[in-house]
Amino acid sequence: MRVARRTNATGEGNTVKAVYSEQHRAHDPQFFLVRGVVTRTTEQPERADRLLAGLSAGAHRLIAPTVFGQGPRARVHSAEYLNFLEEAWDAWAALGDSGPEMIANIHPVRHAATYPAHIVGRLGWHTADTACPIGPGTWAGACVASDVAVTAAQLVLDGERAAYALCRPPGHHAYRDMAGGFCFLNNTAIAAEHMRLAHERVAILDVDVHHGNGTQGIFYRRPDILTVSIHADPVGFYPFVWGYAHERGEGAGLGANLNIPLPPGTGDEGYMAAMVRAKRIVDAFAPTALVVALGLDASEHDPLAGLAVTTDGFRRIGAAIAEFGLPTVLVQEGGYLSDHLGGNLAAVLGGFERAC
Ligand code: ZN
Repeated sequence: MRVARRTNATGEGNTVKAVYSEQHRAHDPQFFLVRGVVTRTTEQPERADRLLAGLSAGAHRLIAPTVFGQGPRARVHSAEYLNFLEEAWDAWAALGDSGPEMIANIHPVRHAATYPAHIVGRLGWHTADTACPIGPGTWAGACVASDVAVTAAQLVLDGERAAYALCRPPGHHAYRDMAGGFCFLNNTAIAAEHMRLAHERVAILDVDVHHGNGTQGIFYRRPDILTVSIHADPVGFYPFVWGYAHERGEGAGLGANLNIPLPPGTGDEGYMAAMVRAKRIVDAFAPTALVVALGLDASEHDPLAGLAVTTDGFRRIGAAIAEFGLPTVLVQEGGYLSDHLGGNLAAVLGGFERAC
């Protein structure tokens, strides 16, 4: 399906609308543990400012999110987990001798028999790693991000060719009941489930430099939602224990999960070859809607330094996404502070628009 270039009453042409809220600032994590060294997290509010500058350069219209409430979140996450996230900060603060952010000192990795009652136990139960510190505004920020994603999905359900969700915190490392890797609520999965309300088959394409392990986990047994992830090889890169090519889904979902791990430092040509492969798989699945987990951390300038995609490469990625020919929700995932972050977002969206 090719959608003809069109100009609406406001003269915006086919410029992708962007959903954004300032309320992401409620979530301002600090702690990040890298190889035993405590440093400041790279998932900072300033990321959104740089992404906004990229949107401004592309003249994208900003739309405030609609509050959809708990419904879309509850279609993806367990009640136990949502309750934990909502209550976590107050229970932590009530301990009296607790630190400025919630970081687990146990990780039971589910071998335990009993769901713990104490907040420290629940924190360990519901976090995969130490890269998801919870502060006083984390729940509020995460909820706004999920509303931003659902609002973008709703714009597409209402007839937009595509919409972009500036989500912060990101979401694709969050499982049904577990946070990790800067992520709490899986915005991409929530957007996909929202699209699923009107589409029998939905594809997710994750172009973040990290494997979308949470999204994979959520849909691993589902035949109706295809998950494809292109990422730096987890042999030497977060999340280390997921993201390998042999992970193809289970049960009814067997075959509806594709991982394309790339060697460290892969540049534009290698990346575009992976996009061709991803498109073949998506075409064979025959979805009627696409959700893109739009990490920009595959950039050659990203501080996490996994792959080496150039700004022109991001333009080509945007054009390739348009070639899928599907109603498309673009959900911001990773992409960290560099002078190129905003420009890379403008490049993806500009490449997409020009190819539509
Ligand atoms: Zn990432």
